[in-house]
Amino acid sequence: EAALDRRDEMDVEGWRVGDPVPYAALAKAFALIEATTKRIEKTSLLTSLMLLVIQRSKAGDADSLLRTVYLCINRLSPDYTGIELGIGESLLIKAIGESTGRSLQLIKTDLKREGDLGLVAMNSKNMQKTLFKPKPLTVPFVFSNLKEIALSAGHSSQGKKVSIITKLLAACKGEEAKYIVRSLEGKLRIGNAERTVLVALAHATVLAEQERSGKKWSTEKLASRLEEGATIVKSRTSKLRCGYPCALTVGVSKLRDECKLTPGVPLKPMLAKPTKAIGEVLDRFEGKRFTCEYKYDGERAQVHRLADGTVGVFSRNSEDMSKKYPDLIEQLPHCIKENTKSFVLDAEAVAIDRTTGKLMPFQELSKRKRKDVKVEDIEVRVCLFAFDLLYLNGEPLLHKNLTERRELLRQHFEPVHFEFQFAKSSDSEKTEDIQTFLDESVKDGCEGLMVKMLESEASYYEPSRRSVNWLKLKKDYLAGIGDSLDLVVVGGYYGKGKRTNVYGAFLLACYDADSEEYQTICKIGTGFSEEALAAHYTVLQPLEMEKARGDVKVGGAKPDVWFEPKVVWEVLTADLSLSPVYTAAQGLIDERGVSLRFPRFIRVRDDKSADDATGSEQVAEMYERQVLAHDDGKKKKKRG
Ligand code: ATP
Repeated sequence: EAALDRRDEMDVEGWRVGDPVPYAALAKAFALIEATTKRIEKTSLLTSLMLLVIQRSKAGDADSLLRTVYLCINRLSPDYTGIELGIGESLLIKAIGESTGRSLQLIKTDLKREGDLGLVAMNSKNMQKTLFKPKPLTVPFVFSNLKEIALSAGHSSQGKKVSIITKLLAACKGEEAKYIVRSLEGKLRIGNAERTVLVALAHATVLAEQERSGKKWSTEKLASRLEEGATIVKSRTSKLRCGYPCALTVGVSKLRDECKLTPGVPLKPMLAKPTKAIGEVLDRFEGKRFTCEYKYDGERAQVHRLADGTVGVFSRNSEDMSKKYPDLIEQLPHCIKENTKSFVLDAEAVAIDRTTGKLMPFQELSKRKRKDVKVEDIEVRVCLFAFDLLYLNGEPLLHKNLTERRELLRQHFEPVHFEFQFAKSSDSEKTEDIQTFLDESVKDGCEGLMVKMLESEASYYEPSRRSVNWLKLKKDYLAGIGDSLDLVVVGGYYGKGKRTNVYGAFLLACYDADSEEYQTICKIGTGFSEEALAAHYTVLQPLEMEKARGDVKVGGAKPDVWFEPKVVWEVLTADLSLSPVYTAAQGLIDERGVSLRFPRFIRVRDDKSADDATGSEQVAEMYERQVLAHDDGKKKKKRG
């Protein structure tokens, strides 16, 4: 009901059924969403926007809703197509100058004061006296222009980009310029977490279905349909992004079929929860059948083969990696049995020494170029370790249990020396066996074990979920170090002495998906070699900003320079503590934030984007686990 109520607030005069969606409706909705911090209110505002779009779309028009959804999550196409917005500040300043007639110097001064180029663009527009009334912006017009900007590449494209942006800005009214510029920067900053948008989409679909039926559903029926819709939509993110014509034309009851896994369209992979000790594994899986697999130290690879023989390799982030792994694609036919036509494999691509068969660490693969790798130039080859089969010969397998999926995997593929193997596994439930297997895995160059439920619904494949039915048991945890964190580098501190030409220390942050904020967590400055510092400088210097970007929740941290949040590092810590300076997980445990003590740099994670960094809830969980372990320890000591 609340959702239905807000439609009036974002409606636009003269918007009739069949008209293109006015961008003004989106801008109004965005402004309302930005003004509230309450997640439920954000969801209902988004639901209202989508309902309004559905209501004003002609039957069969799914594009209007789809483009609206895309603009709400600030994307233009599915992740894996790699089309992204992220226009640099100087280009945007130039375009704002050209469309408003203000000097670049004035715009830069405003930016320093406001810290938000969107706001500066809006204010600059509103200062301007316009003689003629521009034609109102529409969603399809904005969408296609943004896409053209994202697709133009090369040095000569700069002028073209500026002219498209100038044209868009010239037509902006009210708050539109603010959101257009933020979209171009790559972040809307209104707290529209993707999950919220998807839940709203499911809700709007269900509510539209009810409206179309002309009947008022009972609260129970409505609640269960909303729940069902949300569950399906959330777990099928990448399918939605591939251009799935939303739920508008099919209704929620058919969503499940429409959203079926299809080879060629990557699925968000299932993720694991960390565990500290074998005892914890046994507690969680008590009385259930489970398996332990080697946890290989490589890169996640989701390998798709279509019935026509086309092969695609996708990363953990649904990025197309086919051009990085031509050797893998060349090798693949060797391991496929005759009755295997189409499939989706979940696997780990690991560097291997072809003379000794020894597995090599992840770093070997990260040295590879990301594109246009030629097989003849490859020095270190890759071996694929398959651990799951998600689709086979036209049929999705997500709702089969792991025992069945594993069986099908073994029946339809065969190991090939140094090219393709099944992840080594052991199904024993005895503590001593698990310990021995863990030691073996480490000796064989792996990071530890993945422990997975084998039977019942609990072992179904859960896309995009960090599930308790998959546990990771890393050798580091046993040494008492705990799980590593993947953190975004948001600031730098100038070095001293020998280190004056580079940054000597860095400010790191985790990412809170709900508020879309980077929250500061620690300063890291020890353990870097001179070469490493020089390399980090080369990568980070071009990302320097004068002020923290608006979505960095700074707290009391005071670095010498700020960086655009982009680079992700894996870091280990000895200990987490509460801190009045940093903002990570603030409000989840305490009014203070959580910070890392004695953080240690492990490696650059260039397979993760800034938004894939460790979440604030994970940080809070880690802190709580540590407190529990500490209390346990104290009790044991007392008893002792
Ligand atoms: P996370 O977001 O969970 O932190 P991550 O990329 O940092 O992900 P880990 O937490 O270290 O990775 O562990 C999960 C990863 O381990 C998987 O994404 C996969 O790449 C890798 N892996 C190696 N062997 C296996 C296996 N047998 N089963 C599942 N995943 C495996």
